Amino acid sequence: MKQKIVAGNWKMNKNLKEAKELIKGIKKEVKAGLKDNTRVIIAPSFVNLQSAVKKTKKSIVEVAAQNMHQAKSGAYTGEVSADMLTNLGIGIVILGHSERREYFAETDELLAKKVDAALGNGLEVVFCFGESLEDRRSGNHFEIVENQLKKALFHLQKENFKDIILAYEPVWAIGTGETASPEQAQEIHAFVRELFTKEYGDETANAISILYGGSVKPANAKEIFSKPDVDGGLIGGAALNAEDFAAIIKSI
Ligand code: PEP
Repeated sequence: MKQKIVAGNWKMNKNLKEAKELIKGIKKEVKAGLKDNTRVIIAPSFVNLQSAVKKTKKSIVEVAAQNMHQAKSGAYTGEVSADMLTNLGIGIVILGHSERREYFAETDELLAKKVDAALGNGLEVVFCFGESLEDRRSGNHFEIVENQLKKALFHLQKENFKDIILAYEPVWAIGTGETASPEQAQEIHAFVRELFTKEYGDETANAISILYGGSVKPANAKEIFSKPDVDGGLIGGAALNAEDFAAIIKSI
């Protein structure tokens, strides 16, 4: 079933003490008043995951990792495997974030392998995709989005998509303060759902949650979330403040 989801990507922010404080603040803010079907996810850095799992145990807040390596184990200095995550009690991993694509040269082909490793280990995947400013200006955004999804996800079976959450993140709107208009978000989300209908049928297309990410703030969340194909948000900057994050969650 399609779910409403608000996920916070903390990126390389918050030391252990700060992470604990932020979790405490979020728990206090979201304790009451959430609709049944709404999920709240936070993605702290690797070193703070264990503590985050412990601190969110009796709450509705779920913990995700921001990345993982595709190999089972081995000589990959500095990397973290799917098994290491599940062993900590992590059930979700973000893959394909544009910062991973841009600064760490992650390609769609590599992401396909990471997705397989994550699903194979029982992890749910928040899969990010989205076009650059150049692609948007030249009108290539539909083609770019379609290629990213086809190359990284369309080798999967229908049943795999119960463990995939999509996150449309136009690169030009991430951390820039420039948000896609609710209409621009809706246009791509509807296009993506249509792609899934063509490839996997209506049932899969209508069950998959598609989040929007890119400068979502308390002031614009409600309007973006009101669009029929926007099922929630992946939040960067505003997820680092408990009141702002909670305000975004409550506007769903
Ligand atoms: C992100 O990086 O996933 C993101 C959406 O960031 P921001 O909300 O800061 O634009």
